[in-house]
Amino acid sequence: MKINLKQIFNIVGESKDISYDITADELSDIKGYQFSSPVAVSGRVYNRAGVIYLDYSVEFTLLAACDRCLKEFERGYSFDFQHIVVPSLSNNDNDDYIVAEGESIELNDIAVTDLLLQLPVKMLCKDDCKGLCMVCGCDLNESVCNCLN
Ligand SMILES: [Zn+2]
Ligand SMILES: [Zn+2]
Repeated sequence: MKINLKQIFNIVGESKDISYDITADELSDIKGYQFSSPVAVSGRVYNRAGVIYLDYSVEFTLLAACDRCLKEFERGYSFDFQHIVVPSLSNNDNDDYIVAEGESIELNDIAVTDLLLQLPVKMLCKDDCKGLCMVCGCDLNESVCNCLN
C-alpha cells in the first residue's frame, strides 16, 4: 500500500494511522515461505519535531515444514518495527532510514523486507523439536527407538 507523506513532512505534529492487510495474493511471490494468513499491518506514521517516524507491527501465520522432523506446522508471528523516514538520502544518513521517493512510501515492500529479516533461518515446529532418528527415520518427538543406544 502506497502511503502519501506530503502532509506529514510539511506539518510538525501531523500523524496518520495505518491499518490494513497485505493479501495472500500479494505475498505469493515470496520465495521459501508460505503464508496461511494475510499479513495484518497496523501502526502510525508521524512527524515529531520535524523527524518522520514510521512505527508499525505485523501479524501473520506461516505454513512451514519443520527443518528437523519435516512435519508441516502453522505458527503465528508478530513483530514490531520502527523506522525514520527521510525525503531524500544525503551522505551522512544511515542505511536504516527509509527514503520516501516522491513523498510517499510503499509500505508493503518495507513490511515484507522487515519481516523476512526477522524470520528464523531454521523453521522449527517447536523450539525443542527432537527431529528424526538419523538411522530409522522415526519421529523422535513421538516415538523412541534404540538405534543410537
Ligand atoms: Zn519438528
Ligand atoms: Zn531410530
